[in-house]
Formats: sequence, structure tokens, C-alpha cells
Amino acid sequence: MSYSSGRHFLQIPGPTNVPERVLRAISAPTIDHRGGAFGRFGLELLESVKEVFRTTSPVVIYPSSGTGAWEAALVNTLSPGDKVLMFEVGQFSTLWADMARRLGLDVTFVPGDWRTGPSAADVEKILTEDKGHTYKAVGVVHNETATGIYTNIAEVRKAMDRAGHPALLMVDAISSLGAMDYRHDEWGVDVTIAGSQKGLMLPPGLGLNALSERALAANKTAKLPKAYWDWQAMLGQNKAGFFPYTPATNLLYGLKEALSMIREEGLENVYARHERHGEATRRAVRTWGLEVVAKDPTQYSGTVTAVLMPEGFSADAFRKVVLDRFNMSLGSGLGKVNDKVFRIGHLGDFNDLMLAGTLCGVEMGLAVAGVPHKQGGAAAAMEHLTAMAQQAHQVPAGVR
Ligand SMILES: *Cc1c(COP(=O)(O)O)cnc(C)c1O
Repeated sequence: MSYSSGRHFLQIPGPTNVPERVLRAISAPTIDHRGGAFGRFGLELLESVKEVFRTTSPVVIYPSSGTGAWEAALVNTLSPGDKVLMFEVGQFSTLWADMARRLGLDVTFVPGDWRTGPSAADVEKILTEDKGHTYKAVGVVHNETATGIYTNIAEVRKAMDRAGHPALLMVDAISSLGAMDYRHDEWGVDVTIAGSQKGLMLPPGLGLNALSERALAANKTAKLPKAYWDWQAMLGQNKAGFFPYTPATNLLYGLKEALSMIREEGLENVYARHERHGEATRRAVRTWGLEVVAKDPTQYSGTVTAVLMPEGFSADAFRKVVLDRFNMSLGSGLGKVNDKVFRIGHLGDFNDLMLAGTLCGVEMGLAVAGVPHKQGGAAAAMEHLTAMAQQAHQVPAGVR
């Protein structure tokens, strides 16, 4: 393999760029995970991690990928044959529903076109018709990473309340937590599912569940088999800052650092930054004359933009050109949209100039790969970023 000079652009929607501060934190010596120092560290971490979920309830952290945290949410709250309501928005919602079926749950998977997400009205209608309250849980993906489609969880919660339905609300926030506005307590979410390698700016390897009182109550009677994922074993040990088995010690150091960075920037500023980058990216895509996958502007993702390739052109061939020539990785089309879609990840440790570079790489790649498009997308994004910067930058009186 020959050396590629300069920095690789990792613009897949997770794993994301791991900042130096986090890498340094992770490189600290591994210590005894049963010793007093680790217990004190664990207690502090388990408390501070709540902030990013905006919850006062316990957060459980597994050494796992996000998929493990999906499974933990289901097996800790449900029993074999329980009915679960889920919505097809893209590959991740599809995989979560598949998992629920394989675990022995009775899944109603509301079909979707992979270009729009569920509406609150859909949720309300289905739950209102479920007079016997047979659905035990509603599973929603906050930000469907495969299609760049966002679902408004506050609206889903209101729809459930209007229907007077007691089902648990489970939300996959794997590619939105620490990047897009998220409020576990305020939105009445029962289990929030997250992972380390997206908005939280860590390498892969941590899966998280934020719980609620109702989720803990459901846990008492849930009959699906669980061992590794058992919340009770976790919560018992977590009381003293420990874990029932070896935690991913060094990733937890990284998490502590990432949470500090998010706190220093301020959650609201983090959200605004991702919104801004999403908008700038969509302006670029429109200027190129290409189409974003998400049809409904109220469902645009702040962390990932999925772009439709023009008919007859291969998204994977295009991505290969961008990687080989410009040393940038773009996200592939997953599942049904394999080779038809490429994805631009704009989340995690990211700023305006990194986005400008990313969009320049996409635009140059389109030209090199011979994909029909109009020039000026990166410039359109820059214009938006400039306007936003001018708005934010108040020149003090007397400076001019
Ligand atoms: C990445 C992702 C997953 C899967 O997480 P893994 O860490 O790959 O197991 C699930 N849901 C969403 C929305 C994701 O973005």
C-alpha cells in the first residue's frame, strides 16, 4: 500500500473522526476495573453521561456495538410473542425489526418507501385502533442513517398520548445522540439506544441504553431470555461505579473526554452546528442538480445526507473514485438502495472547513467520475456557511 499524504477524510456517517483529545484519553494505562480508582471514575462517568441524553434516569453502558444496545432494549422490557410496532424508513429500521422478530416478538412493520419517515398521524391512528392495548412497545429510529431521514420524537410521543396508549417508547438515537436535539425525559422516551462511534466521537465499541421508570417496571416482568444484556446485573454493579463483567475501560476514558468536549461546546451549539452542516450539504446537493433521498423537508437529518445517484450511474464506482483520488470515504447505499445512493456523513468532531473540503471532494469526484451534474455546489454551501458565520459574528462597535 502506498502512502497517501495529508489527512484521510472519513465522511461516512459512523464511525466518525475521533478527535485527538479523545484518542489521548483512550491511550491512558488500563487499570484494574475492580479497583477503587475505577469505581470512583465509573460513578462519575455514569452520572455525567446522563447529560447528553437529557435524563436523570440511569444509563447503562455495554461493551458492544449499537446492535447490542438494540437487543438490550428489547430483551429487558418484553416477553416472547409481545407485539411491537416499528416503521420502515431504511436499512437500520429494517434490521432492528428483523432482530425483534428473531427474538420471538410479534412485529408490525409499517411499510415505507425509504424516502419518508412515519408521521405522528400514522402512529396515532394505529394506536387508537389498538383498543386492547396489545402493542407493548413502539420502536422508532430517531435518525435513519441509511436514508438521512429524521423522525420527530416529541410528535410521536404526543401521538401516543393522544391515543392514550401505554406502550413503551423505544428510540434508536445511535446516529443522533450528541449531534441532534435529543430529550429523553422531556419526550417521555422509555429506552433510548445509542452507540459510541457516531455523535459521541469515539471509536466503535460502546452501546448505551437510557432507561425510564416505566422501562424499569417493565423489566420486572419481561420474560425474554437475557444474560449479558441484563439491566439488573448492570444497575446492581453500577451503584458502586462497577460493571458485572469487564467494561471497555479505555473507551470509557474516551467517553469521559468526549462528554467534556460536548459540555464545553454546549449541547445547543452542537445541535446548531449539525443543523447548519446539514443545510449547507443539501444546498450543495441541490446545486449539483442531484436529489437528497429524504423527500420531506421536516424530516431532513442533521448528521447525514443521503444522495440519489442519477439513473444509470453507480454510487459505488463514484465512491471508489473519491477514495482513490481524493482520499475520502463516503458512506455506501445500504440494503435496497445499494449502489443507488451515497451518503455524506457530517457529524461528530467536524467544522465548517472540514465540510467545505468534503463537499469540494464530492464535487471534484462527480466531475472525475463523469457523473452528470452542475458545478457550484461547494460554493453554494460556502455561501450558507459564510452567512451563518456573519450572523454569529458580532463585530464589536469601533472595530471597523
Ligand atoms: C450505526 C447504526 C446502527 C448500528 O450500530 P452498530 O454499532 O453498527 O451495531 C443502528 N441504528 C442506527 C440508526 C445506526 O446509525
